Amino acid sequence: MTSVSILGSTGSIGLQTLEVIDAEPERFSVAALSAASSVDALIAQAKKYRPQLVIVADPRDVARVQEALPGGCEVACGVDGLVAASEMADVTVNAIVGFAGLPVTIATLKAGKRLALANKESLITAAPVVERVRRTEGASLIPVDSEHCAIFQCLGASHGANPQVARLVLTASGGPFRGRDAASLEGVTVQDALQHPTWSMGPKITVDSSTLMNKGLEVIEAHALFGTPYDQIDVVVHPQSIVHSMVEYTDGTTIAQLSLPDMRLPIGYALSYPDRLETPFGGLDLLASSTLTFEPPDRSTFRCLDLAYAAGRTGGAAPAWLSAANEVAVEEFLAGDLEWAQISEIVSRTLELYVEDPLDNVEAVIEADAHSRSAARSVVAGIRRSNE
Ligand code: NDP
Ligand code: MG
Repeated sequence: MTSVSILGSTGSIGLQTLEVIDAEPERFSVAALSAASSVDALIAQAKKYRPQLVIVADPRDVARVQEALPGGCEVACGVDGLVAASEMADVTVNAIVGFAGLPVTIATLKAGKRLALANKESLITAAPVVERVRRTEGASLIPVDSEHCAIFQCLGASHGANPQVARLVLTASGGPFRGRDAASLEGVTVQDALQHPTWSMGPKITVDSSTLMNKGLEVIEAHALFGTPYDQIDVVVHPQSIVHSMVEYTDGTTIAQLSLPDMRLPIGYALSYPDRLETPFGGLDLLASSTLTFEPPDRSTFRCLDLAYAAGRTGGAAPAWLSAANEVAVEEFLAGDLEWAQISEIVSRTLELYVEDPLDNVEAVIEADAHSRSAARSVVAGIRRSNE
């Protein structure tokens, strides 16, 4: 029996992780669950799965959750609770969205446990620190992000630059605005951006997919996970989302991983690795899928992709700045306070303010994140003033 802590259990990845556990209950047990604002949903989950620990984000919710739950289930709050949950299970699924997932990534690896990583933002912002804690005895990091889980499988799970790899090819669906030019994207709404053609995901990553920032973050994620230089990481748009990514080797062989776009497959892979689930999530009928197409990304309309490559190549804290500025911009867009096209503008102008921040430890990562957020907020304020 593998015990699993699911942090961010009320979100898209969290709920799909519970579906995987439901499918093979003899194999997995739930050690801990957490949420931020969805307290009622969290209580319902805890009643069903009976974890040892439940974590809320707001201390005012602790008493209410405690009262609602049977004895034997401890209720904790904030980072301390997340760290305890990360240390207690065989596998921790980091399904929190955004920089808030950082303590889970660090604590799980530091404890020498397996991290099933969906929360790409923590790896992107803290790559040098993660690289260190990843070397803790017993620690392992299995990517849940579908492209990286695909590459992990195509690589045969190697960690560190592999001289026989010619390039990694990340596939992108192209998002809801594929094929549109900048003029036709003026005035698109939050609702438009949330209409993803192939994946059903949380709002932040869905907006990131619409700008291609998600793919940009994934390029940095691939560099951090596999040690592949940026010149050897390419992006190709594949609207059907069947080929989840590929590895091209020096002899010209390309190995790809195919399945339906169903996150339960990479989640299940990360939970059961090195074995595989017996449940065929995302099984593929190639005759029904019929056509698979590939095209280059439109880098001038979707500027975030190259902003991410540039931040990745700059290195240091630049990826942390990119990710934090993007979080600020996407929050503003989702709140209806910004135009869609201004997301890339805010990220670009924030990166112009980038001053090198050392990233030696977690505190330095938190500081770099704060610097970038404050720079991004001043860019947003400047844009607002010029709109008035
Ligand atoms: P959701 O927005 O659906 O869920 C996020 C989860 O995190 C919720 O449980 C939410 O709780 C919790 N949460 C939000 N803010 C905080 C906080 N400040 N502190 C603690 N917990 C918090 O996101 P997704 O499931 O879509 O994405 C999660 C991560 O996985 C992201 O990093 C994303 O990039 C990555 N990912 C997602 C994919 C997908 O298919 N969804 C695919 C590949 C990667 P509450 O419900 O209370 O708000
Ligand atoms: Mg992905």
